[in-house]
Amino acid sequence: MPVYRAPLQDYSFLMNELFEIDKQKDLPQFGELSGELVDDVLTNAAKFCEEVLHPLNQSGDEEGCHYENGVVRTPTGFKEAYKAYAAGGWSGLSAPESFGGSGLPSFVTMTVAEMSQSANQAFAMYPGLSMAAYSALMGTGASWMKEHIVPRMVSGEWTGTMCLTEPGCGTDLRLMKTRAVEQDDGTYKMTGTKIFISGGEHDLADNIIHMVIAKIPDENGQIHDDLSTVNFFMVPKYIVKEDGTVGMRNGVACGGIEKKMGIKGNATAVLNFDDAVAWRLGPKPQAPKLGEKRSSSEGMKGMFGMMNAARLGVGVQGISVAEVALQNGIAYALERRVGHALTGPKEPDKPADLEIVHPDVRRMLLHCRSFVEGARAVAMWTTLNMAIANSNRPERDTAGMLADLLTPVIKAFFTDMGFEAANMAMQCYGGHGYIRDNGVEQFVRDGRINQTYEGANGVQAMDLVGRKLGRKGGAAPMAYFGLVNGWLEDNGKDEKLGAYVKPVKRGLDTLQQATMWMAQNGLANPNNAGAGAVDYLRMMGIVTVGWMWARMAKLANEKLATSPANKAFYESKLVSAKYWMERMIPECPMLFERIQAGADTVMAFDPMVG
Ligand SMILES: Cc1cc2nc3c(=O)[nH]c(=O)nc-3n(C[C@H](O)[C@H](O)[C@H](O)COP(=O)(O)OP(=O)(O)OC[C@H]3O[C@@H](n4cnc5c(N)ncnc54)[C@H](O)[C@@H]3O)c2cc1C
Repeated sequence: MPVYRAPLQDYSFLMNELFEIDKQKDLPQFGELSGELVDDVLTNAAKFCEEVLHPLNQSGDEEGCHYENGVVRTPTGFKEAYKAYAAGGWSGLSAPESFGGSGLPSFVTMTVAEMSQSANQAFAMYPGLSMAAYSALMGTGASWMKEHIVPRMVSGEWTGTMCLTEPGCGTDLRLMKTRAVEQDDGTYKMTGTKIFISGGEHDLADNIIHMVIAKIPDENGQIHDDLSTVNFFMVPKYIVKEDGTVGMRNGVACGGIEKKMGIKGNATAVLNFDDAVAWRLGPKPQAPKLGEKRSSSEGMKGMFGMMNAARLGVGVQGISVAEVALQNGIAYALERRVGHALTGPKEPDKPADLEIVHPDVRRMLLHCRSFVEGARAVAMWTTLNMAIANSNRPERDTAGMLADLLTPVIKAFFTDMGFEAANMAMQCYGGHGYIRDNGVEQFVRDGRINQTYEGANGVQAMDLVGRKLGRKGGAAPMAYFGLVNGWLEDNGKDEKLGAYVKPVKRGLDTLQQATMWMAQNGLANPNNAGAGAVDYLRMMGIVTVGWMWARMAKLANEKLATSPANKAFYESKLVSAKYWMERMIPECPMLFERIQAGADTVMAFDPMVG
């Protein structure tokens, strides 16, 4: 049976010592936060994840979801766990108190999301998507929706979904076919099919509020192959009237659920919309004047906001899966006896030493540890930047740009590394890792989807290189380089930090050169940007995590010098930091070399030959 223990000590280190939560009181939602409140939330969340969600992870995977005649049954125990989750107030942790939530900042709720996803990703996705859906409805919904629907989602009585993908389109949403036609009463009738909808149908809650994108036909009844007529809608499974009463079943039905590689406890549904009553969100789109190009609707901004938040959430899933896989890899390596230490037997009275004596096993586990803790710091720093972006601080614009710049990096680099880490932890089990009963192969299967949904990782890389680098004359990368360079200069004279500052500086310089290369060669030939985007994103991920490790190493040195308490914890931070500098930063020149190879060879590849 796999194990999971919430990493509470690390959360406390990051919140209290690295990011100094008590100095952030001026930020929105931080004012009322006390150390005791945060401790209480995290301790209770840890208990729930360890004792309720994690024990259902393996059984949920074995049993999966069941579909029959439009009805979906989740695995045994999920329903009760969901009731307990909602009763515990976990569904509304980040929602404002005016909607019945706890009003906690994502700086804190990110850790709860991480824990629940480590414990049981398939389960955590039901409330996770609900949160994305009600957040969008809070921003774009009509007042009656905010009064009667949002609070029921916040309480967990109802859940929500995000419906974008169709059989003919996932990445390229211009191609969607689902259409919504306006009715005399201002509502719309929606027709079409959405596929791969996480939590699209289930038995956990009485109603499901679908957040759907669809096209409104133009005055000639045509839909266009662009985003101009795409709008954002709310489609409840059971119709909700404006006074909050729940009416008939709506014209949206589950046509089946997918049999899939992982997250089997989460129902991935086909949803058929057949004249379903839909409410458009955001102001009514204006018909373009003669000769004018159609522009994206206001409601779509709500959808993009929902997708951005979901991208960060998926990035955190990469950390979650790596954390739980690492814990199990360590447990196994401390128990399994195999071979002897290269320097001679550690336990000569035993037939073999513990697996952990082998440098390669230690390398794999340290790779996971160094990623998990470094990435967690980056994710938490990004939530802090998001809070600063909504504050009155003078640096708010820069903070917003940094969060925006790093969103695709967090989504793609963290999920690539999360999968890599889960695979390495599985390797520590030898052949036993491949055997289902041992539970570790599930992490590899579950963690794989994180690289694909919410925008495939290659598409995230194009978002970074094609959109975010160049926006506003390159303001975001310039702010990023200025910030990291400034910190490195301020700390460059500290001899104790040389082992961290110098490698990060080398990585950052290489990243700057790669950025220049992209600006020159990507503009000249967009295929050059496309062929190097994944390597570029990885380099930015490595440098950003490296910088965070340098910051943590500085703090660990200070703690070790001033207070010997938790010595092992701070020493372990220095080891993980060094690993990143010695084993990950050296990838930067290699990645740059690959970027500079440009697109010629990949474009010369002829898939029809051979
Ligand atoms: C288990 C699961 C759960 C999901 N949950 C949801 C959900 O809740 N709601 C929802 O709406 N969708 C959901 N999805 C759908 C998911 O988001 C899409 O599958 C994903 O965005 C990719 O779209 P696609 O499958 O159509 O692939 P395509 O768009 O056909 O792309 C195929 C591949 O081509 C490459 N590619 C495509 N375009 C580009 C480009 N511009 N640049 C570089 N490479 C490119 C990428 O490698 C990509 O993986 C889910 C999918 C799965 C499997």
